[in-house]
Amino acid sequence: MILLVDMDAFFASVEQAHHPHLRGKAVIVCGDPSRRGVVTAASYEARPFGVRAGMPLGEAKRLCPNAEYVEGNPRKYVEKSLELLEMFLEITPDVEPFSVDEAFLDLQRLPGRGQTLESASEIARELQQRIWDAHGLGASIGIGTNKLIAKMASGVRKPRGITALDEEKFRGVFWPQDVQALWGVGPKMSEHLKALGLATVGALARAPRPLMQQRFGVVGEHLIEAAWGRDRSAVIPYHEGVDPKSMGHEVTLPEDCRDPEFLEGTLLRLSDQVARRLRADGFQGRTVTLKLRDFRFKTITRQRALGVAIDDHGSIFEVSRALWRENWKGEPLRLLGVSVSALEHVNEAQLEMFQKQERSKALQEALDKVRDKLGEASVVPAGSLTYRRSMGHIAFGTGHIKDADRRRGPGEKAAPPDDETGYGEGPDPSAPDPTQLKPRLPRDDKP
Ligand SMILES: [Mg+2]
Repeated sequence: MILLVDMDAFFASVEQAHHPHLRGKAVIVCGDPSRRGVVTAASYEARPFGVRAGMPLGEAKRLCPNAEYVEGNPRKYVEKSLELLEMFLEITPDVEPFSVDEAFLDLQRLPGRGQTLESASEIARELQQRIWDAHGLGASIGIGTNKLIAKMASGVRKPRGITALDEEKFRGVFWPQDVQALWGVGPKMSEHLKALGLATVGALARAPRPLMQQRFGVVGEHLIEAAWGRDRSAVIPYHEGVDPKSMGHEVTLPEDCRDPEFLEGTLLRLSDQVARRLRADGFQGRTVTLKLRDFRFKTITRQRALGVAIDDHGSIFEVSRALWRENWKGEPLRLLGVSVSALEHVNEAQLEMFQKQERSKALQEALDKVRDKLGEASVVPAGSLTYRRSMGHIAFGTGHIKDADRRRGPGEKAAPPDDETGYGEGPDPSAPDPTQLKPRLPRDDKP
């Protein structure tokens, strides 16, 4: 069984745990309370007033004028997050930090415990109590036969809930629900699915595969599997870090950006760079990872494991765009990254390749050769023209090659080929970054 531990109103709860006078009160954590900004976190006492994370501060103040407004302290939350990780590691070495306040715990290797919903629930109850006793923090825990179910179960009862589901129970709970309840379906995707008459998770499960494949490619396949409660992605223990066999690129945007067209164009360009690097080294990968850093330096990484190995920019873009749409709430972004992991040599994977990929391969190889000769900007996927246009230095039909250097945004670097994280060097090493939990933890307790 797999657990997803999700801390309840994490930032606000940490403040309440540290400052007794805040306990039992509506607490709203924000950037700088005197300036304009957004709500970073709201305690459960503030939620009945309609206050939600991401809401403009002015609106929160109107809804809940008597709340305690507290300036957030990211360093404190990251430290607390590390303490919690250490506690999780006492239960199992297979812990994957998913965000600053969520972690997957894989119980499969525990001797004699955690193999059934009942015994995993027992472990969850003990853990929930230990977190409360040691830190004064509430946690909701989802239990499932895979990561998808654990993640979705964690949201069923909150705060301080425990929900255990196998695939069958998962269908009982989620099939009647709106399709957007499915992990992986954001507002945009939900619109597309509803336009196809797929309004519930159950309807999506029974959607014709060819239709889904044709409309959404690999993402369509994945969505049907997810609607059935199937998920093959593994819990990646923190001590193994991001798969070292991964390739990726990231870019810090010239300024914080919330223009969807620009962001999408950037994703396309990153996907194209990653695809070219994969092909140059003869790899295909089965997992796509998206990295987003917002204007508050909050960084998230989201992964999707795929049933097939891919190395073409179209598929990488499709998956990274789907992840982006699911996880981007409209906040200004300062950094985007795309990487592909779970790599295999092309010949092992070739048999499984989509026919369509086979067909486009010759074309892609030809394009790669042109680009290697003329520089990156000489051939770009059509969509990234948006990017270049909005960067203000596109001249259609001319100047492409000269643009090559300027097209690289400030701070952007191609990742070195053997970069351990699979990402290029990030320009904000001082920013509190939950993804940097991994290197800071000891590596010697690897089983
Ligand atoms: Mg949470």
